[in-house]
Amino acid sequence: MKDYYAILGVSRDADQEQIKKAYRRLARRYHPDVTGGDRESEARFKEINEAYEILGDPEKRHRYDLFGEEGLAASPFDRGFDGFTSPFGDIFNLFFGGGQGRARTSAPRRGSDLLAVVELELEEAYSGKIHVVEVPRHESCPQCGGSGLEKGYGHDLCPDCGGEGRFTRTRRSAFGTFTSTTTCRRCGGSGEINTHPCGFCEGRGVREIVDRVEVDIPAGVDDGDRIRISGRGEAGQLGGPPGDLFVEVRIKEHGAFARHGRDLHAMVSVDMVEAALGTEIAIPTLDGEERLRVPPGSQPGDVFRLRGKGMPEVRSRARGDLYLTLEVRIPERLTAEQKRLLREFQQLQDRGGEAPGIVERLRKAVKQKA
Ligand SMILES: [Zn+2]
Ligand SMILES: [Zn+2]
Repeated sequence: MKDYYAILGVSRDADQEQIKKAYRRLARRYHPDVTGGDRESEARFKEINEAYEILGDPEKRHRYDLFGEEGLAASPFDRGFDGFTSPFGDIFNLFFGGGQGRARTSAPRRGSDLLAVVELELEEAYSGKIHVVEVPRHESCPQCGGSGLEKGYGHDLCPDCGGEGRFTRTRRSAFGTFTSTTTCRRCGGSGEINTHPCGFCEGRGVREIVDRVEVDIPAGVDDGDRIRISGRGEAGQLGGPPGDLFVEVRIKEHGAFARHGRDLHAMVSVDMVEAALGTEIAIPTLDGEERLRVPPGSQPGDVFRLRGKGMPEVRSRARGDLYLTLEVRIPERLTAEQKRLLREFQQLQDRGGEAPGIVERLRKAVKQKA
């Protein structure tokens, strides 16, 4: 009876991972590419593959441990195992000697990041909000944790490429030596196949979901800001962690306020008499109504600053200011009475004086119109 453990050079209590490693190491050493295909090495290579066919499969290994080779032959799962008609049977036909296949990597890979865009009103950016975004993405299968494997099983070494993931062919001709490498179709280059796929995800390791993500958008967020929500991107591969979700904020244009960093800018208007005499007006801010005192003699284009009435700064107590630019309305059409009073006003100006009450009357007259 053949001792498969001795052939692979592992102890009887070696775990599957150790067996796989031992197999790979030996398969590389006795690979026809390396040995040049002498008979003895070829026989050894067959033997190594034969041993791995059994020990690499937890179920077959178990039967072999209990019953030896008979146990294998008697199995209903047996696919006519007699030396080399196993799935490894045609492995020799695939190698043409020379050129050593590089060991491929099947390291876990992190999932890719995703980007979602949300549009906010300036008021929402001012106060901050919890915004829900729906993100279609893949998630690691909750059943198998992303491995795609049925519980208790591992990947099998791909029998087509013997775990190399690719085939290297070298042809020698009168013109020189040509080497070409092709990826193994069966395993897609991973060197492993899944013969016990997870029933939940059918071996894909992921499932499609529409993730509802609550995004805490901080007060003071600016146009183009990105908020990172870690772990809510695409699922990782081969057990790798998921990527992150980035939520990019776009802020809609506001009818009254223009934003420059932390500061807000707006226009306020008074009529010409109010500008001349001074007044107090109500102005809306993002934080309710404020009163602005327009001093007498204010000019068009004068800028008033309301400290701390601009945008808040993200995660800070600092606040920007609100800048108000004065616009002075001049009546387009005047009544006969208004015209008369304005002329009276003009004459007074020419004489360098001012009759008591004239400006008040003027103000009332202009207001009626406006
Ligand atoms: Zn699964
Ligand atoms: Zn393969």
